[in-house]
Amino acid sequence: MIVITAATGQLGTLVVDQLLDKVPAASVRVAVRSPSKAAHWADKGVQVVHADYDEPDTLRAAFEGADKVLLISSSAIGQRARQHRNAIDAAVDAKVGLLVYTSLLKAETSHCVLADEHVPSENAIRASGLDFVLLRNGWYLENYTENLGAPLQTGAFYGAAGDGRIAAASRADFAAAAVTVLTEDGHAGKTYELAGESFTMADLAQTVGSVVDKELDYVDLPEEAYRKALIDAGVPEGMASVLANADTAISKGDLEAPTDDLVALIGRPPTPLKQAVRTGVAALS
Ligand code: NDP
Repeated sequence: MIVITAATGQLGTLVVDQLLDKVPAASVRVAVRSPSKAAHWADKGVQVVHADYDEPDTLRAAFEGADKVLLISSSAIGQRARQHRNAIDAAVDAKVGLLVYTSLLKAETSHCVLADEHVPSENAIRASGLDFVLLRNGWYLENYTENLGAPLQTGAFYGAAGDGRIAAASRADFAAAAVTVLTEDGHAGKTYELAGESFTMADLAQTVGSVVDKELDYVDLPEEAYRKALIDAGVPEGMASVLANADTAISKGDLEAPTDDLVALIGRPPTPLKQAVRTGVAALS
């Protein structure tokens, strides 16, 4: 039995759909906060169970009899170390055969505040005594390509990433890597740094410009000015701080990794930036 947590999220949905191409539905269980969102999988024979990272009993029940669990990191920034700890303890109680966790690229050296919750989660997994795999996902291409409306309107991308490189990949690529680890043997104990094609923010502006046939700039700001600009644009303060800090981490090279781990796991080149931009632009019309 392969159990996927947070399966109704964007990454989880891609993982489950790709997994169902490889294994019978009866060997897949989705452990989700909102089972009603997973009814379409239940119709296919997938087990759908309620599991909330804040409710340890639900996690223990959801992991019962699991050979492998994919713990997709929670989206509740600030709560995640505790929530993941609940899931890791439940996996230990259920004696799962393999615990796979979605972490952050170069988590242990990253200046990104997001790493502050991934590092304790990784450490707890290493100390759990379970077989595990750490999937250190880089930035999603979609962080940019699903948010092209404002830059296309203003003619500029704003950020604080300097000329730092971002080795982003699509959610579908990261999902494919997870599916490989969940369906093939030989990955236990591995930490994979998963990174795609690398680009700077100026490269991104140029690529988007070439797709829409319009000149786009990248305007680099100090972190605090970028944070304020995000807040002025309506981003909640906490998220604005996280995003501005992430850009500073990018400027220090934390979201780039010269590694072939992603290609090795998915057996093909990851989605190119230009292709993702075309998809993002098409979605706007
Ligand atoms: P989504 O926001 O689409 O999905 C988050 C998932 O977490 C949802 O399924 C949500 O459940 C679930 N969740 C939140 N709180 C709980 C809880 N208390 N108990 C159980 N489930 C919970 O994120 P993505 O799928 O795009 O990304 C997956 C994860 O990757 C994120 O949660 C985050 O940790 C990380 N991430 C990585 C990024 C990157 O660029 N690498 C960017 C953004 C996030 P529900 O469906 O019920 O809402």
